Amino acid sequence: MSWYVVCTNCGRDDLPTDQLLAACPSCGGEWLDPRYDYDRLAPVMREETGARSCTMWRFREWLPVHKDEHIVTMGEGGTPLLRLKNLSLMLGIPHLYLKDERQGPTASFKDRQASLAISVLREHGIREVVVASTGNVAISYSAYAAQAGIKLWTFLTSSVPADKMREVALYGSEVVKVTATYDRTKQVAARFAEQRGLFLDRGIKGMAARESMKTIAYEIAQQLGWRSPDWYIQAVSGGLGPVGVLKGFWELREMGLVETMPKIACIQAAGCAPMVRAWEQGLPQTCCGRIPSDFDHHSSHWRPRHCL
Ligand SMILES: [Zn+2]
Repeated sequence: MSWYVVCTNCGRDDLPTDQLLAACPSCGGEWLDPRYDYDRLAPVMREETGARSCTMWRFREWLPVHKDEHIVTMGEGGTPLLRLKNLSLMLGIPHLYLKDERQGPTASFKDRQASLAISVLREHGIREVVVASTGNVAISYSAYAAQAGIKLWTFLTSSVPADKMREVALYGSEVVKVTATYDRTKQVAARFAEQRGLFLDRGIKGMAARESMKTIAYEIAQQLGWRSPDWYIQAVSGGLGPVGVLKGFWELREMGLVETMPKIACIQAAGCAPMVRAWEQGLPQTCCGRIPSDFDHHSSHWRPRHCL
């Protein structure tokens, strides 16, 4: 597979692909991005992928796993793009579609992320992983980790419904319930991983998470006959989905398969609206679910936080 990794901070483009780097060795930048041989792959995307199996792995060449034998799949992706005729009439929008991600193996779009992330971990020989979650990621990762024989430690906020916790445990994962905010739960998980010397899943900062989500863009463009929609709208917590989807449309444009990029709209439910609140208060960054009362723009401790 021909792909390489670029540091989006300093531009270094010769980072090793046989290591799970958390940051660029040159500048410490954490946003590392795989790139592919787009000129060579464009005709493969246009002429061959449509006849392949209807999962996200039909886009195998654009996913950062070296060997096929490491792929852990349960048929994720390949979800229907449904035409919403009645809602179109009600809203006066003639071409309205729903990408129905409920059809994944554990009924959420996180199955794409779990499939690629667990495949990458398997490729690097990692046998034990720690993940913090508000529910869906833990369920999905548990299903895929069980299939790969990888032991999973899930740190869940106490607000996660009991049914979801049971589902995680049924897959054989260790469940640690943390009575705190999601932000705090992630800190506890990170400390646990550090103390035990275990691999910590990095969520949106991990390449696998973002690369998996771009397959949503590929599928939508293919289902529309190689076109971009005018708008892509998604309900988000931390925004991993749209970040990956944007990368996907950017790559499709690089390959000449679509001409334009869609506009992106992120919707947040009232119960999880850190970005909306930050936007309303004119803040540059968000924290998980609430703006702390001691917020200090100049504090060196302030970091961007995500609630995935
Ligand atoms: Zn760098």
